[in-house]
Amino acid sequence: MKRAAALLFSIATALALAAFALLGALQGRPSDVVSVRATAANRLALTRTGLDLLMEWEGRIYAVLAPGDAVRLQGLNIPYRFEAMSSALPPPGAAAARGGLNGAYHSYAETEQELLRLERDYPAVVRLFRLGTSLEGRTIFALKISDRPDLDEDEPEVLFMGCHHAREWISVEVPLRFARYLAENWATDADVHRRVEEAEIWIVPLVNPDGLDYSIQTYRWWRKNRRFNADGSFGVDLNRNYGYMWGVDDDGSSPAPSSEVYRGAGPFSEPETAVVRDLCRARSFLSVVSYHSYGRLILYPWGWTDQPSPRAVLDRALAVRMAELIRAVNGRDYAPEPASQLYLTNGDTVDYFGGTLGIPAFTVELPPLDSAAGAFMNAEADIASVFAENLPAMLFLVEDACERYTPSGRAATPERPAGPGRGKAPSGPYGPGH
Ligand SMILES: [Zn+2]
Repeated sequence: MKRAAALLFSIATALALAAFALLGALQGRPSDVVSVRATAANRLALTRTGLDLLMEWEGRIYAVLAPGDAVRLQGLNIPYRFEAMSSALPPPGAAAARGGLNGAYHSYAETEQELLRLERDYPAVVRLFRLGTSLEGRTIFALKISDRPDLDEDEPEVLFMGCHHAREWISVEVPLRFARYLAENWATDADVHRRVEEAEIWIVPLVNPDGLDYSIQTYRWWRKNRRFNADGSFGVDLNRNYGYMWGVDDDGSSPAPSSEVYRGAGPFSEPETAVVRDLCRARSFLSVVSYHSYGRLILYPWGWTDQPSPRAVLDRALAVRMAELIRAVNGRDYAPEPASQLYLTNGDTVDYFGGTLGIPAFTVELPPLDSAAGAFMNAEADIASVFAENLPAMLFLVEDACERYTPSGRAATPERPAGPGRGKAPSGPYGPGH
């Protein structure tokens, strides 16, 4: 009897483990994390093989081992070991003390609270719009900051976005802090006041809310959205899903759903990119920045080809100026370069804005520079300094848009919803406010 019970228990345990493993696979954790000793030779070899390097920590280099990578890694003859996710993460430190996994970084719910607070506290210059919803039903918000925010005035418009990629938490914080900075300083700072008067500044701090929360709660290295793909894998790379030169080749984007750079079933197949597209169709942006991490780069079109874009001279001039302004704050260098110089890709944000809308568009890869300095794992203490060094470049882009803008002479009209609801009354899911 005792033995039978033990046998039953083992069977139940085995079934539970199998179910757990299956659940893990279905929830989109196909990639293992491995580590190797952090030597200069190993670093170089891993970089050359193009592995997804996550960080260096306590003498080891951590990397994602996607399907197919094991063969490449074995070919290098470098001893590696598999890491349990919990042990492959640095101690959460202050975050754990407060009971939160994300510490000072904003989750979806915390981002929403902050955006609602800004609109409530600064109604004279802040309006919150709901652009649409993510696959899992979270709202994708846009904050408009301008004088008379209920009116669509004849003013230059600039867009700042964050978090296309879930694990790049710092990319939420920079645009979110920019919104707070503008709201808190417009009444007292003459320069900020002038920009808020002259321009319409749009901020979408969290393009991929499902992915962000999954990265916080389940799998820290998650990159894509949470699309359940036909082959049972999860996720589309939102920065490969834009509609300009989408899928023109397989360099840097993939038709395979399990790939970390899966471009989706079609251009703008994902609600998260579709709402950005609709926002852009409804507005007249003069420039756009999409924040990512890591690498300390200011990337401009093209990504899909190494040929220069027709606007490369203006794009480069703006990127060089942004890099100068950033360096002046903390002394950190951000390299201005065409996106293709990092690696060829297609369906990304800057190519869409540059190619379809013909406006300056930048991917800013926030610090650190490399995996040795933490990669996607920015410390909580990084938030303030990374925002501070990017602030002058953000203000510069608004100023540049104001200088390039030619007023059309059209009268101000009541503000319309920013997204697909353009032309309808500002109510319902696309209306301003809550
Ligand atoms: Zn990214």
